Amino acid sequence: MDSKTEQYTALGKRRKVLIVDDELINRELLGNALTDDYDIIYANDGEEALQKIYEYRSTLSLVLLDILMPKLSGIEVLKKKKEDPVIASIPVIVLTADQQSEVECLNLGAVDFIPKPYPQITIMKARINRTIELNEDRAIINTTERDPLTGLYNKNFFYSYCNQFDQYNINLPMDAMLADIHHFHVINERYGIAFGDKVLRLVADRLRDYVTPRNGIVCRNESDTFLIYCPHGMDYNEILDYVTSGLEEENPTNSQIRIRLGVYPNVDKLMVMERRFDRAKAAADTLRNSLSNAVAIYDDSLYQKDLFNEQLIAEFGKALEEGQFEVYYQPKYDITKEEPILSSAEALIRWKHPSYGLISPASFIPLFETNGLIYELDNFVWKSAARQIAEWKKRFGISVPVSVNVSRVDMHDPNLERVLCSIVEDNHISTKELLLEITESAYTRNSAQIIDTVKTLREKGFKVEMDDFGTGYSSLNMISKLPIDVLKVAKEFIDDAFESGRDTGMLEIMLDIADYLKVPVIAEGVETREQMLTLKELGCDVIQGYYFSKPVPALEFEKFISEKKSELDA
Ligand code: C2E
Ligand code: CA
Repeated sequence: MDSKTEQYTALGKRRKVLIVDDELINRELLGNALTDDYDIIYANDGEEALQKIYEYRSTLSLVLLDILMPKLSGIEVLKKKKEDPVIASIPVIVLTADQQSEVECLNLGAVDFIPKPYPQITIMKARINRTIELNEDRAIINTTERDPLTGLYNKNFFYSYCNQFDQYNINLPMDAMLADIHHFHVINERYGIAFGDKVLRLVADRLRDYVTPRNGIVCRNESDTFLIYCPHGMDYNEILDYVTSGLEEENPTNSQIRIRLGVYPNVDKLMVMERRFDRAKAAADTLRNSLSNAVAIYDDSLYQKDLFNEQLIAEFGKALEEGQFEVYYQPKYDITKEEPILSSAEALIRWKHPSYGLISPASFIPLFETNGLIYELDNFVWKSAARQIAEWKKRFGISVPVSVNVSRVDMHDPNLERVLCSIVEDNHISTKELLLEITESAYTRNSAQIIDTVKTLREKGFKVEMDDFGTGYSSLNMISKLPIDVLKVAKEFIDDAFESGRDTGMLEIMLDIADYLKVPVIAEGVETREQMLTLKELGCDVIQGYYFSKPVPALEFEKFISEKKSELDA
């Protein structure tokens, strides 16, 4: 609340209100009523109104706007104002005798109405006051430099403070670091948001206590990620120990809360601040599957990886043209019956590079997601898979549905539905045969739009599998509203469950969620018979993994179809 007081004293003077009305009598009536409390300026028509709004945009607190006016109507003014971000946030109260236009005005950004003939002065003043206050509060919240939960700087302020710090300490070697909490969303889900918030606050406090006395700056980036900018020479393991020892005292859970730290040491000061933290993140990402607290340093190998990435991007177009990409297929088996039976396949892309050999999609998919190349590549995979489904159907007389991966980026393509439908039509297959895997993390960002897209796709008959379930940040509440047909539990949960000590607790939570949603579960990355049997016992429906087969070229996959066909024929 400190910032609010600061803001008010900073303003310190009377607020400016623009009255727009073509009738002198109305302008005078309103002006006289308000002149004791506000600085009043006037405009006689819409054109003049816009001109005044621009002229006074940095000090204008409110516009009182008539609708029926010559030259430019109030509606036109609202439209133009809404389109220009420079003036869009100045609040407008519409003065009108016409209730019909109220909805239109609201849609165009008006915040309130004062009916004509004007009500009592005290009522008008109260509405005007409240509008101005609400708008100022919102502006303060938007620009506040602190994250309300942890009290740390928010990202924008953090970057500008880091830059300021550099200006005063040109020759001081600095480190950029990123810290985050392993499986934080699961902690949230299992122990509740209040506990999750407490963990975030504890981590924030400990980081600040450690870093600030050493001339460092900390911020909360998003969710469970923290950024730290500090003079080079700190003991990274000591930071982690300090943070986690603070957590141990408060932790009611059996398992340790683990923190990982990515460090880009001795930063290149010619590089923009954001990129320095990209490097810290690249280092932290190498720890994705680490089971203990850990530190990773951005080093030459990561630098080489940056160079490698640039090369892959440069070569992509030619590689696609020359047929260096090939779709592999991995079987998924239904294990609900006595004997496992082939249910479908997943299409997984491979790059057969002339000098590097087979490149795993893990090295290029995330990269292509950052620069739009993924559209072209996924399109190629979807078409290949659809063609393959049709061909197998013709040759074997049975349908083997194939799931394709739909990247988070594809989900924002307004043509997605049309593209997928025409692929299905062109290959004379049904939408039920081309299954769509959409990663859970797609749902968490801009979820309303994604949910709409998924709904439309399902209306067209596509079946949607939620991929990598457990690795996103969905809350149980949100998941229960999601339109999906299948949950695919991420491999890391299978790994965790069968790692040392064999704790299937987390896996059982996933299965309970699926049960609650009444959708079947696919387990990915199942490698042994023991895992398969345990999963079967726990109620898992479908299994995909090396236990049955690695992803293989289409031709090799045909043996699984033949087997199924002979079982069906038998
Ligand atoms: P994903 O969708 O989670 O795919 C499953 C990954 O797990 C595949 O890796 C698969 O080969 C691997 N896998 C399956 N069973 C086992 C197992 O038993 N043990 C182990 N260790 N691994 C197993 P892959 O093919 O390297 O693909 C990696 C990721 O790349 C995929 O993860 C997916 O997110 C992405 N990807 C692959 N192909 C495409 C594509 O055509 N389009 C898009 N957008 N993404 C793709
Ligand atoms: Ca997948």
